[in-house]
Amino acid sequence: MTATRVPGIPVVEDGVLISTNPASGAEAGRVPVADAEAVNETVRRAAEAARWWQALGYDGRRERLLRWRSLIVRRVEELAELTSLETGKPNADAIVEATAAVEHVDWAARNARRVLGPRKMRTRLLLAEHSGHVEYQPYGVVGVIGPWNYPIVTPVGPISGALAAGNAVVFKPSEYTPIVGQWLVDTFAEVVPEQPVLQAVHGLGEVGAALCRSGVGKMSFTGSTTTAKKVLAACAENLVPAVIEAGGKDALIVDADADIAAAAEAAVWGSMTNAGQTCIGIERVYAVAPIYDAFVDAVVEKAGQLRTGEEIGPITMPRQIDIIREHIDDALAKGGQAVLGGAGAVQPPYVSPTVLVDVPADSSEIRDETFGPTLTITKVADANEAVRQANDTPYGLGGAVFGKKNALRIARRLRSGMVAVNSTLTFVGMGNLPFGGVGESGFGRIHGEDGLREFARAKSITVRRAPSVLPAMTFERTPAQVATIVKALRILYGRK
Ligand code: NDP
Repeated sequence: MTATRVPGIPVVEDGVLISTNPASGAEAGRVPVADAEAVNETVRRAAEAARWWQALGYDGRRERLLRWRSLIVRRVEELAELTSLETGKPNADAIVEATAAVEHVDWAARNARRVLGPRKMRTRLLLAEHSGHVEYQPYGVVGVIGPWNYPIVTPVGPISGALAAGNAVVFKPSEYTPIVGQWLVDTFAEVVPEQPVLQAVHGLGEVGAALCRSGVGKMSFTGSTTTAKKVLAACAENLVPAVIEAGGKDALIVDADADIAAAAEAAVWGSMTNAGQTCIGIERVYAVAPIYDAFVDAVVEKAGQLRTGEEIGPITMPRQIDIIREHIDDALAKGGQAVLGGAGAVQPPYVSPTVLVDVPADSSEIRDETFGPTLTITKVADANEAVRQANDTPYGLGGAVFGKKNALRIARRLRSGMVAVNSTLTFVGMGNLPFGGVGESGFGRIHGEDGLREFARAKSITVRRAPSVLPAMTFERTPAQVATIVKALRILYGRK
């Protein structure tokens, strides 16, 4: 059966998923759709591959992961071109995205042994005759569900952490970006041809749901908060743990001593890169009164120079355009002003840069994730007011602060998992920094040491080194020994 094709909307024909460019409708590629049995079979194969992968040890895995990293780098133009074709994003944005992905593979490969490998712990006096050891053991198979907006870096973060920790991975890319997902899997298979250590399963949401129920040891989900709740419900059936990277409504605070030109440049990039379809994209700015007018002028000037169809690509998921339109309309209906763009900016599949001021706090542009190239700028009396308003959201993913004297203090007070000071979004590109949110933005972390530990279970081992001086954990202790234990307890911990 042949379904009607709308550019950018994936269709399934005869068990094959066909992916197209959101602007031109050009086909990006086709992949077979999996059913629940195929998902289960893929996970069974992955469990066998995991045993082989684990047996390679940290050095063997590191060597192979670094080879994958180098292969991605050698073919980065090909990957960027494919990503650009499938999502519509400008080629330069795809290159920048791939750069961050390469950083995460490299860091996870090089640091897994140090972070997860066996280590001896310092002796505790009450059990001084035992030594303590900790190591982090892999789950076996990790399921990764990814979104379409950053189809390279969002899955590669958890995939590289999970692989470096010794797991095999079954990856369900978004139905909007299966071809980029398959490229990642195919290139990994070029450097690890022996076993299916990284596999993809394709299809619509139900394939993701089947993956949650397939017997994986852990799930890593990146996508919307609404879908995250469905994923958690499916995982709960078998008590499968999950790391959740969900949506956001990130704020930028501009303090009185900020470099206004730099803040404006970063605000425009942080909100408009990838046409605003960025989980950690800046969607709201709170600028203090003394610099507000100059900042708004600078943002309008910079954003006004962006060319729709060039730096600003099409909206990848066609139905998101209605949400962006509704948010702009709602802001204007409630008294907001468009100082750039506005209602006319929505020309499917494109939305031109839109900057809104005087937008009431109860409008959807302030409250809900817009996921388009729009930015609200709100005047606030001071940094305290900025922090209060920035934190007044159920989300808490990233954020940014521009300023000098108090910038770091303000950054600490933002209720979010990450903050960039005097830049925007930069934390996503540093392999050693954990990435994740609070509240409706999710929990758990990918990237960095926390991201590696997310994909392994702590295993604690004690080893007796000598007979016990204070034998507590035995029925053979005497009353005199119990009395000595109490004395020791008072000496060690009883002082005020
Ligand atoms: P969705 O939540 O719509 O989809 C995410 C993934 O989940 C897709 O692969 C989707 O498959 C799959 N899925 C859909 N239904 C189910 C289900 N019932 N069970 C299991 N899996 C399912 O998100 P989008 O793809 O639209 O991505 C955009 C969202 O992702 C935004 O909210 C954005 O903020 C967030 N995001 C968060 C990031 C973070 O790190 N915190 C990073 C990037 C994006 P299919 O596509 O086939 O429906």
